[in-house]
Amino acid sequence: MSTNFPYKRVLITGGAGFIGSHLAERLLSLGCEVEALDDLSTGSVHNVEHLLDNPAFELTVASVVEKRDLAISVDRADAVCHLAAAVGVRLIVENPVRTIETNVSGTENVLQFARKKGKPVLLASTSEVYGKLAVIPFSEDDDVVLGASRRPRWAYACSKLLDEFLALAHFRENNLPVVIARLFNTVGPRQTGTYGMVIPRFVSQALAGEPLTVYGDGTQSRTFCHVADAVDGLVGLLAAPDTRGRVYNVGGEGEITMSELARLVIEVTGSTSEIVLVPFEQAYDEDFEDMQRRVPCLNKVNGAIGYQPKKDIRTIIDDVLAWERTRK
Ligand code: UDP
Repeated sequence: MSTNFPYKRVLITGGAGFIGSHLAERLLSLGCEVEALDDLSTGSVHNVEHLLDNPAFELTVASVVEKRDLAISVDRADAVCHLAAAVGVRLIVENPVRTIETNVSGTENVLQFARKKGKPVLLASTSEVYGKLAVIPFSEDDDVVLGASRRPRWAYACSKLLDEFLALAHFRENNLPVVIARLFNTVGPRQTGTYGMVIPRFVSQALAGEPLTVYGDGTQSRTFCHVADAVDGLVGLLAAPDTRGRVYNVGGEGEITMSELARLVIEVTGSTSEIVLVPFEQAYDEDFEDMQRRVPCLNKVNGAIGYQPKKDIRTIIDDVLAWERTRK
């Protein structure tokens, strides 16, 4: 057990997902026992198969929506990292009922069971909750600006915001030690483009010699964060007792437009692919709405745990490329 990390056994809901599997590896390397609870809907056993032989690792195939298995897993843990959620804009637009139900009931269940014995909970939230806010960079106490309810995309932000409210309510009313991390466009090995994520999509398109599909006019921007940096943030926030009852951005540095990103992916991969612009209504549906810019302010998380992202966009693309190549 690491002298710096205060919990022996950690439950990661969504532990066979892209971020969850990296978090599991990190906690194991710190000497923790890790239980990954995952229904394998968007997560995959492939993400954790290299951990299955480790006696300190356990995979439980179950959903956070089913109370029985979850209750047992929470009971056995010293702390919970709640990462299980509907993932990716494509899934959210195509499967809005599942998005809302997974995000709301899952978090309700995790917090309820954690409350029984006051187990610390790290809730993974998302930069999506800032919505269309135009004040850059986004700070944790900023107002949020969500779109109309007829546009399914906003169900994701709204459901994760409700999760945040519920976690903070448990902190205030029940002294439950919760901390909330708003993750900004986390990217790295094992992330799949199936649910719409742009970097794995661009990299596989470039490798296949297919056109890179830039949605809209390509002027919209994001700030990407390497999963290793995001995991630094999650572990640091869970380990630090002063973070309880608070919300923190966890993200990268360096804003990039989708057109610049497509050009950079072509350069890094050495691909001969061309870049095409695809209207949003063709990529998703006519009710789709994108946000123009997304940049985190990292002052609060830096002040709390000394968080500083280390990997730039080129390193992120290199790592995704290396992983895509080994996968093929
Ligand atoms: N995007 C794109 N081409 C794709 C997939 C996504 O241009 O093939 C754009 C998308 O419209 C958004 C940005 O890339 O503006 C990031 O999308 P992603 O789904 O990765 O994350 P989001 O920030 O939307 O949650």
